[in-house]
Amino acid sequence: MNLNLNIYQVLSIIGVLIFCYFVFFKNRKSAQKEINNLSDIEYISSSNTGFDDIAGNYEAKESLKDLVDFIKNPEKYQKFNARMPKGVLLYGSPGTGKTLMAKALAKEAGVPFYAVSGSDFVQVYAGLGAGRIRTLFKKAKQSKKSVIFIDEIDAIGKKRMGGNMRGSDEGDRTLNALLTEMSGFGDGSGIIVVAATNRIDTLDQALLRPGRFDRQIEIMLPDRNARKDILNLYIQKRNCNKNINLEKLADLTVYFSGAQLENLINEASLIAVKDNSEEINDEHIEQAYLNVLAGTEQKNPAENKRQKMVTSYHEAGHAFISKYLMPENKIIRVSVIPTSKGAGGYTLSTPSNEEIITKTRIKNQLSVLLAGRAAEEIFLGNDNVTIGAQNDIERSTSLAIDYIAKYGMDDEVGLLNFGILAEKLNIPLSSLESYVKKLIDELYSDVMHIIKNNKDKVEQIANLLMEKEVIHGEDIA
Ligand code: ADP
Ligand code: ZN
Repeated sequence: MNLNLNIYQVLSIIGVLIFCYFVFFKNRKSAQKEINNLSDIEYISSSNTGFDDIAGNYEAKESLKDLVDFIKNPEKYQKFNARMPKGVLLYGSPGTGKTLMAKALAKEAGVPFYAVSGSDFVQVYAGLGAGRIRTLFKKAKQSKKSVIFIDEIDAIGKKRMGGNMRGSDEGDRTLNALLTEMSGFGDGSGIIVVAATNRIDTLDQALLRPGRFDRQIEIMLPDRNARKDILNLYIQKRNCNKNINLEKLADLTVYFSGAQLENLINEASLIAVKDNSEEINDEHIEQAYLNVLAGTEQKNPAENKRQKMVTSYHEAGHAFISKYLMPENKIIRVSVIPTSKGAGGYTLSTPSNEEIITKTRIKNQLSVLLAGRAAEEIFLGNDNVTIGAQNDIERSTSLAIDYIAKYGMDDEVGLLNFGILAEKLNIPLSSLESYVKKLIDELYSDVMHIIKNNKDKVEQIANLLMEKEVIHGEDIA
């Protein structure tokens, strides 16, 4: 390079350097200031939300109640060398009461509550996020026992990508600081970190390991019963007509979150005030309902009802075939309320633990996966089946390929491993397609048959689901 600069060029380069220095220096200074100024850490010395202020979510509440004693009497557990959970991850759709749960934990344990949001740590200045984490924990440790709440943990705890595609180093530093701090306080310290996320699937696995957020509690959208309880809770707090039809309101608010239900009652009370009314009545609630629907992504009641009906038949298909083919499996819960992981509903069962994985068992599993779509086809008609079976089809296709290409269970194909055939003999995997299709088609037709022959029973399960939204093993038996 030929550096033949004239005086003006030299001067302008010096100018640029001075400019850069000032910008950098100023940034450093304001960064330092921001580290010290932790005004956005919400410190609530005593949370005033208790478990009584939370309706629904009965199971999650029970799990959190267990932790109250851990915080109150850590010595008791230390005596037995029991490891006290340091981190609890609450996951579920927005507005389902995750923040509320963390606050209630602090209140019931009688300890201070520190709340931050993961997005506060995502900063442009290097080292700022990590510094804030350390300050937060320093503060919390000063008050000995406490509940630290980190909302939107996914903002700092996103999956780190391998190779060159690493996430930002700054994000890694913040996450590492959090992990270090969490392993830094002793088991008996009485500090519990509660984190919340709507997206557990995006979290870095490092966060979920033992000694970190190893307790994971799903906070679900409320089912019909829970909605009634939540509506009742907020109606009790306000001046409401005694005859408000809660049953009908619970029916109308399918797919509403707790926050949306609270908002609905609040809106109704505003309308009542405007109306100069003595109390909130059914008309106010009706008007509020229409306002709330318009302001959210909620579909209209008829659409919601249809969606629930479709999901009920779909899940009833899964549940029935599961009970029919594998009566030894225990169905824990069937739900038509969507999960935060994107399923419209789900059927949860535990396999009997002794059973080894046999050919019959895999075929049965495939049949259960196919049963959701089969029920849709039978009850709604072939033209009206929905996209609800997407995930089922993904899983059944994959399992059927393993059945043939890995486990050697297809009689025609024989005992061959197709991964190795492809690698060593260049045999294309596509040669398997027709076998996969045949297996699935046969099983699907069997499943259709079974459901057709038991239409009334499947219908009964579906009706129960439409009514209650979440049912348990006993209901199906
Ligand atoms: P998340 O943290 O899951 O997004 P929040 O805890 O912030 O939800 O809930 C927002 C508001 O919604 C709460 O302040 C409360 O008014 C209401 N709410 C949500 N879930 C419930 C519930 N299960 N019981 C009572 N109120 C609820
Ligand atoms: Zn399904």
